[in-house]
Amino acid sequence: MHTYAIGIDIGATNTVIGLVRNDGQIVGKETLPTQIYTETKSYIHDIVEAIRKVMKDCKVEAIERVGIGSPNSSYETGCIEENTVNLRIKERIPICKMITEELGVPAALDNDANAAALGELVYGGAKGMSNFIVYTLGTGVGSGIVIDGKVLRGHRGFAGELGHVIVDPHGRKCGCGRVGCLETYAAAASICRNYLEAHAEMTGSEPTEEQKNITCKHVGELAAQGDKAAIAAYDKAAYWLGFALANAVAFSEPEGIFLFGGPTQVGDILMKPLKKYFEEQLLFLYKGKVLVELSHLPSNDAAILGAAALQ
Ligand SMILES: [Zn+2]
Repeated sequence: MHTYAIGIDIGATNTVIGLVRNDGQIVGKETLPTQIYTETKSYIHDIVEAIRKVMKDCKVEAIERVGIGSPNSSYETGCIEENTVNLRIKERIPICKMITEELGVPAALDNDANAAALGELVYGGAKGMSNFIVYTLGTGVGSGIVIDGKVLRGHRGFAGELGHVIVDPHGRKCGCGRVGCLETYAAAASICRNYLEAHAEMTGSEPTEEQKNITCKHVGELAAQGDKAAIAAYDKAAYWLGFALANAVAFSEPEGIFLFGGPTQVGDILMKPLKKYFEEQLLFLYKGKVLVELSHLPSNDAAILGAAALQ
């Protein structure tokens, strides 16, 4: 018999509510435009109504839980904290409590990287694994670390900022104020920068204004067509990721590491050099023993699956 959970992905543009079956199938979806909401009460009201609607439309009478993936969220308190960039509502939102009061089921909230890790565990490639790490590559680089079957949360809930491990202390300035974080080489905008630098080096000329506005997706397309600067851009990201992943292995000895997010969609262009650099940097104890793979979750729905796995 099937059971169901609700996964909610709170993005800057849309709040997507998905009804997820226990085998990982998303059987129904509702979407709310996040930016029309300026008040907590109406936002939660509409989320709850959307949950009721999707259940009714899919003839599902009961759900086991509701999970919410949102930046700036606290798993401990179940609240989206004040001044979340994605939202126009600036006050603290006790979203879990409010949803549980309306629907009578448990609700859990976490950031998107931890949600991605749990999604991988429940519905993806980490099924059956007790120790693994998920890296999320996108606007920034995030990570969710699972140790002995549990997400590592740390003393105050901020564990797992592996995008901000310093890989090159003489490297690029990071948005966090320090120098040489992994994120400055492997986030989407960083891969664009890798490309512009490689292009300038290879051609000896400064990039045009149009080139300066290139997207990571476009760099990926160029790399797929064999563009040398674009391939070098991914190779640079892979190089520093290789270091960072090898260091992370020394910390928690995961069985597998999964990579997720827009920049990973180039597949082997990133993964092939990454696996090579990773193996080169691994401590001898771990060589050949740690799986490095793309996330098994479908990219469009991973955020919803991750949220639905939260509990
Ligand atoms: Zn940083």
